[in-house]
Amino acid sequence: MDLTALTLHELTDKLRKKEVSSVELTNAFLKRISQVEDKVNAYVTISPDEALKAAKDADARLADGVNLTPLTGVPVSVKDIFCTKGVRTTCSSKILENFIPPFDATAVKKLKDAGAVILGKNNMDEFAMGSSTENSAFFPTKNPWALDRVPGGSSGGSAASVAAGECAASIGTDTGGSIRQPASCCGVVGMKPTYGRVSRYGMIAFASSLDQAGPITKDVLDAALMLTAIAGRDPLDATSIDSPVPDYAAGLKGGIKGLRAGIPKEYFIEGMDFEVSSAVSKAIETLKKLGAEIVPVTLPNTEYAVSVYYLVATAEASSNLARFDGVKYGLRQDGGNLIEMYKNTRDAGFGPEVKRRIMLGTYSLSAGYYDAYYKKASQVRTLIGRDFDAAFKKCDVIVTPTAPTAAFKIGEKTQDPLTMYLSDIFTISCNLAGIPGASIPCGFTKDMLPIGLQILGKRLDETTVLKTAFAYEEAAGWSKKRAQL
Ligand code: GLN
Repeated sequence: MDLTALTLHELTDKLRKKEVSSVELTNAFLKRISQVEDKVNAYVTISPDEALKAAKDADARLADGVNLTPLTGVPVSVKDIFCTKGVRTTCSSKILENFIPPFDATAVKKLKDAGAVILGKNNMDEFAMGSSTENSAFFPTKNPWALDRVPGGSSGGSAASVAAGECAASIGTDTGGSIRQPASCCGVVGMKPTYGRVSRYGMIAFASSLDQAGPITKDVLDAALMLTAIAGRDPLDATSIDSPVPDYAAGLKGGIKGLRAGIPKEYFIEGMDFEVSSAVSKAIETLKKLGAEIVPVTLPNTEYAVSVYYLVATAEASSNLARFDGVKYGLRQDGGNLIEMYKNTRDAGFGPEVKRRIMLGTYSLSAGYYDAYYKKASQVRTLIGRDFDAAFKKCDVIVTPTAPTAAFKIGEKTQDPLTMYLSDIFTISCNLAGIPGASIPCGFTKDMLPIGLQILGKRLDETTVLKTAFAYEEAAGWSKKRAQL
């Protein structure tokens, strides 16, 4: 049997029944990686020694039978934006090419404490800026369903590694769609939790008021198990929420009879890709058959979301990325004096998209432009949040497509940043509002490219989002399909 095709919860089951050991499982995934990685390129760094050591520890824990969690002994991967103690963390940037953190991000530490085995670090768009993983300074990742297509981004390596069976599950980050859009492109499940639900400590910052970590998995139960493991208040992140973490897996069952699913008209626009809109319409029909009540809602400020996002996110990025100056981290290119050294380092270390965003952000924050751009964007951001508050008075979840199209061809959008930015048109508002959102598979195009359904929920109501996703998944069965490599 191909163990690498199984879900995390199926593997937990096999580990508990002693049908397989964590070391055997880890070796099976390392073998799979060696077989498919030259096609997929989902990893920047593979760490077999650390993984096998963790697997041995997990086997000891499994033998004792104490302190077990659903993750104990299960091989996972981690986006290369999370600091991993002693293992290179690059953010897919030349400026951090040789950076070895002396500490673990809290989300990573929680995975390790739960007994998960970390196989390696996933490729991504440099500093999480992008929607295709083509902005990696090292190489693009390929979509396991069609190797000439992008896996989405920025967590493209994480989504591709899950879809290709190169890990049982992964964690990514989502600032404007970077968990959900790649999940949609790769036919897997991705969940961006409420802002503050998961600690951002040790997660290299892009836009701190939007960034959030979450799971990318083969099915909804796996997403629930991963989220339960990584969520929670962390004294090291002042924005993490002090609210008990529910057992998300326990909340999945029970069906969605009587659930009110809001359909925002602004997300079903003329000229939308026909295959995407028909798959999403069918999914809405399925929710109805499962007993959900379909209610039209409106999110009138949706049309401003992309503009607001590219002001807020770039402003925060320009500030966050000031720390990469050749003094404290990574690359240094010498110059005649300190300023020259800064300039040379940042010129050599950052790729074109990162430079573009630093310049946009610096501009919108500068005296004279701040009021017109950054301040105005922050005000409209509040209005977008209020749109959701009003909509959620009428419904329990909001259902939309995750992305306007299925995975596009490698190279198709690299020359035109604006078209690339529109890939996130349906995912960005969720980050601006700080609410949770998931993407789950809802069908395929005629070329067998996955299509994603987005489910948004009320602040801290991940349970209802996951419950809806679970009911749909059980009825539709798309999550059982695996890419053939
Ligand atoms: N694609 C969006 C961007 O380029 C979102 C990225 C993200 O969520 N990290 O900024």
